[in-house]
Amino acid sequence: MTASKVTRIQLNDGYSIPQLGFGVFKVDPHETERIVADALEVGYRHLDTARIYGNEEGVGRAIASSGIAREELFVTTKLWNDDQGPEAGVVDAFERSLDRLGLEYLDLYLIHWPTPARDRYLETWRAFERLRETGRVRSIGVSNFLAHHLERLLAETDVVPAVDQIELHPAHQQPETGAFAREHGIAIEAWGPLGQGKYPLFELPQVQAASATHGKTPAQVVIRWHLQRRHVVFPKSAHRHRMEENFDVFDFELSEAEMQAITALERGGRVSAHPDEFN
Ligand code: NAD
Repeated sequence: MTASKVTRIQLNDGYSIPQLGFGVFKVDPHETERIVADALEVGYRHLDTARIYGNEEGVGRAIASSGIAREELFVTTKLWNDDQGPEAGVVDAFERSLDRLGLEYLDLYLIHWPTPARDRYLETWRAFERLRETGRVRSIGVSNFLAHHLERLLAETDVVPAVDQIELHPAHQQPETGAFAREHGIAIEAWGPLGQGKYPLFELPQVQAASATHGKTPAQVVIRWHLQRRHVVFPKSAHRHRMEENFDVFDFELSEAEMQAITALERGGRVSAHPDEFN
């Protein structure tokens, strides 16, 4: 598998993003450099981190020692909740993330959570708009925004987010947010694409059936379902054999019937915090 097999999704700002990447939530900062180096060797070129993961430095070190040209990589990080607010603080948080990553520019910067009780995401987004004008971040987006947060953002600010990164897997698909995003040209990134190992997706008969038919693992079937739904995904694993498994998903296609059977698994199976309540 080479990196070039990975399909790309066109963003609403002219840039494009590799549809499959590697996420580093809960990757131990002491192990991050080795784990991300493995992922880059496997062929991943899209990395998803966040200030709050505490492992931006490790991601940066792995990038620096990989020898991979900067323009071949797509790097995302996220502004944490307590850095939301006036422009100076947002810019400062951005600079510090960029420094830890050792990069001259970022591909994608996200507001990590809307934190509605703080009610600062509009002013934060205006700071993101100005950051983008500097060219030091190419694309700006949001994370964990529900349709009603997006609606307010679009009504009150100028730039439509390039992406919304939300918890999304077959048992929790957030169709309302997905429909709003599609209508407004916002790409959907699915975090927890495998249910974070907390939701027993791999045992479901619909996933098992497709796995047997295609000679692929249940994890590969679920990742393939995401890709065919046009989600951007970055499953996480600390183990190289699973990184390889999760990357090896471009040589088969789920049929329309298989796609429908997996889509019918929606159960409201959220495994993490509710965006209206997480502050
Ligand atoms: P995930 O759904 O990718 O699940 C990861 C877990 O699944 C692993 O720890 C492992 O236990 C298991 N797994 C991985 N590959 C497997 C395989 N091939 N076979 C069997 N089990 C396998 O969950 P995640 O890491 O939370 O989500 C992916 C990425 O999304 C994160 O690393 C992070 O970058 C991002 N994320 C963002 C937010 C947000 O609020 N924006 C929240 C959580 C995660």
